Amino acid sequence: TIPFGVDLGNNSSVVAVARNRGIDIVVNDVSNRSTPSVVGFGRKNRAIGEAGENQKTSNLKNTISNLKRLLSLSTKSPDYDVEKKYASYNLVDKNGLAAAQVKYQGQTQEFTSTELVAMYLNKLKSITEKETKANVSDICLAIPAWYTEEQRRAAADACLIAGLNPVRIVNDVTAAAVGYGVFKTDLPEDKPKIVAFIDVGHSSYTCSIVALKKGELKVLGTAYDKHFGGRDFDRAITEHLADEFKVKYHIDIRTNAKAYSRVMKSAEKVKKVLSANTSAPVNVESVMNDVDAQSSMTREELEELVQPLLKKVNLPIENALKIAGLSVDQIDSIELIGGCTRVPSLKAKISEVFGKQLSFTLNQDEAIARGVAFICAIHSPTMRVKPFKFEDINSFSVTYWWDKGEEDADHLEVFPKNASYPSTKMITLYRTGDFQIQAKYTNPEELPTGTDEHIATWDITGVEIPEGEESAACKIKVRQDPSGFYTIQSGYIVQEKEFKELVEKPAEEEAEKPKEDDKKEEKKEDADADVDSKADDDVQEEAEPEYRIVKKLVKVKDLNIAYKGHALSKDALAESLEKEFKMVADDKLVAETEDRKNALEEYIYDLRGKVDAEYADFASDSEKESLKKKLSEAEDWLYEDGYDTTKARYIAKCEELASTGNLIKARYNQKQEELKEKFQKKREQ
Ligand code: ATP
Ligand code: MG
Repeated sequence: TIPFGVDLGNNSSVVAVARNRGIDIVVNDVSNRSTPSVVGFGRKNRAIGEAGENQKTSNLKNTISNLKRLLSLSTKSPDYDVEKKYASYNLVDKNGLAAAQVKYQGQTQEFTSTELVAMYLNKLKSITEKETKANVSDICLAIPAWYTEEQRRAAADACLIAGLNPVRIVNDVTAAAVGYGVFKTDLPEDKPKIVAFIDVGHSSYTCSIVALKKGELKVLGTAYDKHFGGRDFDRAITEHLADEFKVKYHIDIRTNAKAYSRVMKSAEKVKKVLSANTSAPVNVESVMNDVDAQSSMTREELEELVQPLLKKVNLPIENALKIAGLSVDQIDSIELIGGCTRVPSLKAKISEVFGKQLSFTLNQDEAIARGVAFICAIHSPTMRVKPFKFEDINSFSVTYWWDKGEEDADHLEVFPKNASYPSTKMITLYRTGDFQIQAKYTNPEELPTGTDEHIATWDITGVEIPEGEESAACKIKVRQDPSGFYTIQSGYIVQEKEFKELVEKPAEEEAEKPKEDDKKEEKKEDADADVDSKADDDVQEEAEPEYRIVKKLVKVKDLNIAYKGHALSKDALAESLEKEFKMVADDKLVAETEDRKNALEEYIYDLRGKVDAEYADFASDSEKESLKKKLSEAEDWLYEDGYDTTKARYIAKCEELASTGNLIKARYNQKQEELKEKFQKKREQ
């Protein structure tokens, strides 16, 4: 299988794979280097990506876009109302989360955001398998830094539903920084280079301050504005045009979803033109009520319209610097990515905040995808890649809770906000029976409104009190894993045991083995820390000259850990997988039926052309008459009963014609063979 990286963009997504000792961008079914992030629903099948975008205007109510914003979006969040403004389809509440209601296969159906993203990822997967002729099963997915645990879990579940194994979920700007770090050959070995990476895309704006050295990087600070991107520019232009058209043409595009959507499309075009030119025309043919709307806009006018946005450009940069504990003059380079950073006034503003020139070292549309593909390759067992170490930054403080026993406290803030991850910590709890641990956000008020403060609960079972003890000392290994998930990685019971140890060669004692293995494993982890090391230290005792008695903590039993959190349950996952499987099969059948219909049509025209030409001498007049009649009938059928029928009936129809057609063709072919032989013989003579 081929390492596969996806930059899930709100507007369009970019896919890259690791192959031929490099990273390649995968082009889609129409040879584009990015694919619209759109899922459309139809009478029989779905139209995903380019096909969905093409049908969007005629199928507004059933075309879902802004997938990245919808993923696990709480309907209690103010962002839900923002998305409603951008949605041309029915955005509905399903169990407290945003879902889409569409008409599909003749029925009103609801799909969860996870299912929608899964459909889209599955499409990207099939595009990639087609283009690379390789199997795709592992994915490294780029998501925004502002995704919460719940949204990250939904992203991972979407991968699973698409038949993909999410090797790692990575913050998008971090992925771009990794790409930069890997391919930049002049990075320092000692004092790190400090780079500010800025991504302004379709819907959000992120700034990450990163320290880079040869072979490694560390994110020092990340901040974002979730409501700052190209679509906000487009909306500002559209609103302006809506007012203008009201006065000029007496039409109100705000009352007509289709008209509004079309003006929005024109607005995007205008915005793009204004990145390279100082003025741009606006033309929307028969926008509504048969009005051909026309206008124009200058770069200054656009700048005026987006003043509210431009005024807050400095905030993410200042916040990220604050978290990093750095000032602007400590930044060595400012790297811009994302489509919206092509807007001249935005570039000027960013440059002004830093008081420095901007750099465009990275391909601004493809940097994230390249980064994730590379990260996927790092994790691939079959690829040999130069290692690159990177540490990201935790967005929200997280505390683990348990029922208070002998310990001093019933909770511990294990992963503070802005600490680095991946990271592992050990908690020791003294228990007399099975118990639960819960992870929660420490400060619910710093979360996006509507976010569930509960992260997960783990049932820890298999607790047995070792002989001679009053409670079991349970070592719990708590980890913020490379994808940013808050987990419990393992748990086991330890007991202090005495060992007789030969002074000369202590390392060979058999009984020490478990403890040693244990230590090694922990050392491998990043940012290890022992939170409660009450009895962890080796205690040396006075002993005879030859031997000494050593007390050591030994693992006596593993504990069972059962996770309950935002990830889909096995059953729910299986159900979604089955649903997706069926929809893929339906899409495939529709495509094959269409192919068969086209084949039949072609056969009719082909045969009709030949009957009076090359086949003319090989059929009797009555045969020709009857065949021509059959062909006309078949053609009529294609426009009537056969306009929309089954694959089997198109095949049957084609075979029916071929029964006569092939007979004549065989005679013709035989004659051709004879002629060829004759010719051959002549040449040989
Ligand atoms: P996000 O990162 O927010 O999820 P995305 O990754 O899909 O979204 P990008 O592809 O980085 O977003 O950028 C898309 C945006 O950039 C669109 O709003 C598009 O109109 C805008 N854009 C693209 N080219 C230009 C240009 N030349 N001038 C101005 N804006 C542009
Ligand atoms: Mg993006």
